[in-house]
Amino acid sequence: MATIDYYAVLGVERAASDADIKKSFRRLAQQWHPDVNKDAAAPERFKEINEAYQVLSDPERRQRYDLFGTADLGDAAAGFGGFADIFDAFFGGNAATGRRGRPAGGADLRYDLRISFEDAILGTEQEIEFPVLGRCDTCAGTGAKVGTSPTTCPQCNGRGEVRQVRQTMLGQMVNVAACPRCKGDGTIVETPCPTCHGEGRTERKRTLRVTIPPGIDEGHQIRISNEGEVGRRGGPAGSLYVAVHVAPHPELRREGTELIYDARIGLAQAALGTRIGVPTIGGDEEVVEIKPGTQPGTEIRLRGKGVPHLRRSGVRGDLHVLVDVEVPARLSKAQREALEAYAEASDEPVSDGSGLLGRVREKLG
Ligand SMILES: [Zn+2]
Ligand SMILES: [Zn+2]
Repeated sequence: MATIDYYAVLGVERAASDADIKKSFRRLAQQWHPDVNKDAAAPERFKEINEAYQVLSDPERRQRYDLFGTADLGDAAAGFGGFADIFDAFFGGNAATGRRGRPAGGADLRYDLRISFEDAILGTEQEIEFPVLGRCDTCAGTGAKVGTSPTTCPQCNGRGEVRQVRQTMLGQMVNVAACPRCKGDGTIVETPCPTCHGEGRTERKRTLRVTIPPGIDEGHQIRISNEGEVGRRGGPAGSLYVAVHVAPHPELRREGTELIYDARIGLAQAALGTRIGVPTIGGDEEVVEIKPGTQPGTEIRLRGKGVPHLRRSGVRGDLHVLVDVEVPARLSKAQREALEAYAEASDEPVSDGSGLLGRVREKLG
């Protein structure tokens, strides 16, 4: 049963949407219309493109084609030799490996994207540029020189695999392997396209706008299907994985959806109260009230000033202000006198700077 890969003909992947198929058909039909294209192969190619579109644009026929490799029910029945073949199509052979008899899919790509702390929280759009193997424009991915088309592999008759039947003591053994002639493609290219040397793909620079959703974090990956390498000879494209790396913030730390700010205040500020400025993301500095008598380790929570939840829109974490009270390591004369006066007023025994308990000794003496 000779099969044409309708997806390859239209240059779309197997999961292509109806809109993609229509778009691709329009472009190719214009390109290959015999009135426009004087290539000897144009009428045949145009016919193929039409045929592919007739099948792939009809949901029922497309499904049948996906399952049986033909859109025609009569053909499907005739194509199967018996129960074993049908069984193979669903559980073994073509269906299970998924690739044999049609071009293999292209590789996935990874792009490392560095963004700022703010962009990770607020979301951003970034333009990225990377080299990728794309569909060859000259041959539309078939790998065949313009005017020729790939032909069904004579060794495997387009199945992409060969079977060896051996008689053993346990009975008949069937060995299935990728066809050595076409390497599993099911088709061979007699006259390779000179641009891509029969590969059906060429390297080019791709520029892409990537939307980074608010709340993304270090190590997250964004998968963009179809933007990886295109497969050989019209095989479906792999995915592009954008791995996100987030730069640190000079003052804020992040734990999931929560932001943390370490605030250091002085002894007197903790005791008497004060106001401090706390940096926020996507807004002005927030003025935060430190109440008189604030203890070291106090946590002040600024609700909704954290990181947006990636999957629950409208939900944002909090900004936690962790208050640390700084004890001065060195004192000026004025500071020392003020603190000694404070110690005396609160009846706290303190050392005299030499490490001895001055006031206590004074009292004892
Ligand atoms: Zn073959
Ligand atoms: Zn080519």
